[in-house]
Amino acid sequence: MKTASREEIFSMNLSLATGVLMLALKWAAYFITGSAAAFSDALETVVHVAAVMFAAYSLRVVYRPPDSNHHFGHDKIAYFSSGAEGVLVMGAGLVIIYEAVQHWLSGIHLQEIGTGVAFLLAAASINAVLGIYLVRQGRLKQSVILSANGKHVLSDVWTSAGAVGGLALAWWTGLTFFDPLVAILSALYILREGSQIVHHAVEGLMDTSNPKLEALASTALTNFCAEELLTYHRLRLRESGTRIYIDFHLQFPNGVPIEEAHAQATRAERLVAQALPQTADITSHLESVHAPEHDEE
Ligand SMILES: [Zn+2]
Ligand SMILES: [Zn+2]
Repeated sequence: MKTASREEIFSMNLSLATGVLMLALKWAAYFITGSAAAFSDALETVVHVAAVMFAAYSLRVVYRPPDSNHHFGHDKIAYFSSGAEGVLVMGAGLVIIYEAVQHWLSGIHLQEIGTGVAFLLAAASINAVLGIYLVRQGRLKQSVILSANGKHVLSDVWTSAGAVGGLALAWWTGLTFFDPLVAILSALYILREGSQIVHHAVEGLMDTSNPKLEALASTALTNFCAEELLTYHRLRLRESGTRIYIDFHLQFPNGVPIEEAHAQATRAERLVAQALPQTADITSHLESVHAPEHDEE
């Protein structure tokens, strides 16, 4: 049975520990400065820790083998995890906009800008290193969960950088409205990031087609059929986390013995599997070219 690799578990625990550290650093920055932008960054850390906890849980479930309740395995939890992360990120974005507008209307009092900026810069640098590491690990391990978490952490670098920029501008020009303005801009960025994460998750849950994988599979099948003088149709493909599921109909001339047809079909399945970059679960349906057709398109 495949389980989450040690690197994956380590990456996730590291992300969770860093998240807790960020929670402390960014709330400190907010309480010290009273800045709306620092508040936006701090509020996001609460959502952040919740999201990473869910992701860490998913990582433990995702590799469970198929069982009598889940015949296709547990891969799809990866999409739930990243979907929930995206929704939480978007929620944070909305609250930040609301709070920034409140701040702006009720008057802005900034203090201890230097200390706040130092805290935020430290947070941003730590997150930048972590985010790059997570995205790389996600690509290496083909892990939707790690990639989504890495992208999220990198988006947080921008909100911290934005808060620093806003505070610096406010301090330099004496115009305090730069602070809530930057908070709103980074919230718009957060909303965009969150919606992209959700979009990707929905694609996964809905088995949205992947033309790149489909081309690989159909090329392999077309070549096989050209060699063997067979035809195929109804090729279907869907992805589930790290696995690909494929089925197709292979059409044989009338009177081919079932043993022979089955051997060819098995070869076809193997060739298609070899053409794909991930583990593929392939099923072929055997039929005669002249069979009175069933529900064909
Ligand atoms: Zn975050
Ligand atoms: Zn058919």
